[in-house]
Amino acid sequence: MSKTLFISDLHLSAERSDIAQCFFDFMQNDVIGADALYILGDLFEVWIGDDNVTDFSQQVARVIHQVSQSMPVYFIHGNRDFAISKEYAKQCNMQLLPEQHVIDLYGQRVLISHGDELCTRDIEYMKFRKKARGWWWPKLMRALPLSFRRKMAAKGRQTSKNNQQYLTAEIMDVTQSEVIAAMQKFDVNLFIHGHTHRPDIHEFTINNAPVRRIVLGDWYSQGSILVAQADKLSLETRQFSNHS
Ligand code: MN
Repeated sequence: MSKTLFISDLHLSAERSDIAQCFFDFMQNDVIGADALYILGDLFEVWIGDDNVTDFSQQVARVIHQVSQSMPVYFIHGNRDFAISKEYAKQCNMQLLPEQHVIDLYGQRVLISHGDELCTRDIEYMKFRKKARGWWWPKLMRALPLSFRRKMAAKGRQTSKNNQQYLTAEIMDVTQSEVIAAMQKFDVNLFIHGHTHRPDIHEFTINNAPVRRIVLGDWYSQGSILVAQADKLSLETRQFSNHS
C-alpha cells in the first residue's frame, strides 16, 4: 500500500542523542516503501548557517541523502531552522519548498506549512518573523563571523536552560480565522502543519464543506509521524530507545 510520510518539530541537536537515534531509526525503517517524505520545519533545534558544518549536521545530511535515493524528500523551513539554505539542502538532496505549498496527495489537494505563520496572536514573534524572513536577513547573518554566531547560539541555549519559565512557555496555538483564510486561498479541504506541538486531527466546516486540519507532533519525548495513505491518515508515535 502506497504511503507518504510527514514529520516536523524534531528539534535535533547533538545534545539530544535520544531524539537523533529515534530519527535515524525512522529514516532506516519507517520510510521503506514510502512515495515521499515531507519534513515540515524545525528539523533542527537551531541553525546558524550552512557554513556551520559539524559532525552532527553531516551525519543528518548523510542519512537524509541516503533516503533521497529511494524517494523525494521535501523540506519547509521552521522558525528554528529558517536559515537552512541551498548548500545544506543540496547536501541532503532535499527540495526546499515555499512556506505554504499545495501538494497532490493521492488525488487530494493538500496545503502544507510549518504552521508558525498561523500563530498571529503572538505579536512579538510575528514582528521577528517578518524581519527574519526578509531577503536581507540571511545576508546579514552570513556577514557575521561564524565564531560570533556560535557564541550567540551557545548563549541562547544557556539563557533558556536558566530560565524555566521560558522552557515551559507554551507555543501559542493557531488563529482559526488564519487557518480558514489560508485553506480558502489555496482551495483545499486538508491542511497539514506542525509547530504548535499539539498533535491532533481537527474536523470542522468551511462554507458547510467538511475540512480537516492535521497537526503533527513534536519529537521532544517520542517520535511523531503522520502516515498518509490514499484512504487513511494516521498520527503515529515511536518510543525512544533506552540504550542511548
Ligand atoms: Mn516551530
